[in-house]
Amino acid sequence: MKVLVSAGTYYFIKKGIKISNTAYLLQSSGCNASCKFCTQSVLSNADKTYLSKVKWYPVELEEIKDSLNSFTRVCLQTVIKEKFEDEVIEIMSKIDSKHKSVTITPVDKQYLIKLKEVGVDYLGVGLDTVKSMWREVGKPYSYEKYIKFIKDAIDVFGRKHVYVHLIVGLGESEEEIVNTMKELYALGAEVALFAFTPVKGTPYEKKERPSLEYYRRIQALRYKLSTGKDGEEAFLTSGCPSCDRPYYNESPLDKELYNIPLRDYKWFLASSHSGSSLS
Ligand code: SF4
Repeated sequence: MKVLVSAGTYYFIKKGIKISNTAYLLQSSGCNASCKFCTQSVLSNADKTYLSKVKWYPVELEEIKDSLNSFTRVCLQTVIKEKFEDEVIEIMSKIDSKHKSVTITPVDKQYLIKLKEVGVDYLGVGLDTVKSMWREVGKPYSYEKYIKFIKDAIDVFGRKHVYVHLIVGLGESEEEIVNTMKELYALGAEVALFAFTPVKGTPYEKKERPSLEYYRRIQALRYKLSTGKDGEEAFLTSGCPSCDRPYYNESPLDKELYNIPLRDYKWFLASSHSGSSLS
């Protein structure tokens, strides 16, 4: 069965050099939904082997599945296409990893139980934006259906085992994204943050990225809501345990990284304490 693996995961499979403790997989063939920021969307002319700024490589799952056991976690990003649910179960059943995550659009609760039975311990949900931006951004289904789905997922996987993805900078007000995060934490969800990244070929290719200062404020609040603490760990990539999705929002050569992957954290601390990073 064909799946796509991220550039970093592919690098490990080919060269044995690991840049993240999580292996990232993506279902092939693009998505039937119309999210305007997304390279996988039907509205996008971008190369479907890209997700945000990351290049993905097609592989045969059967040929590479054993090498995925070297990672602490395997994470599958799903798309909406015919029979995608069956394919997700098949992929996850074939992978032996002890820790598996799936990011998925609303499905019924029985299906979530099936995912748990094939070893999925954390669920991702791409809510992506706030209620007032829902139509403009082009999300599939209704906002209410996503919230119901998040509650179902928490019932099945437990509190703090459901990561709701939010993209900062799609046009939301700061107040609304702050309130959305507070509501999600009150439900028992966690939040994983992304900075909006314009990608050529998508309807939002000309939209501006959010300022780093705005993004840092949202990261700091997310960290406080999640841990009760303040601190520079707030600026690390947020997501399931051992996830650090390197360079979704930036190039490794950028001076300013919105989400700091673990491998760059020491460098980040050194530069922020010398006053050159967070100004
Ligand atoms: S549902 Fe997810 S994969 Fe599909 S277009 Fe929207 S963001 Fe992209």
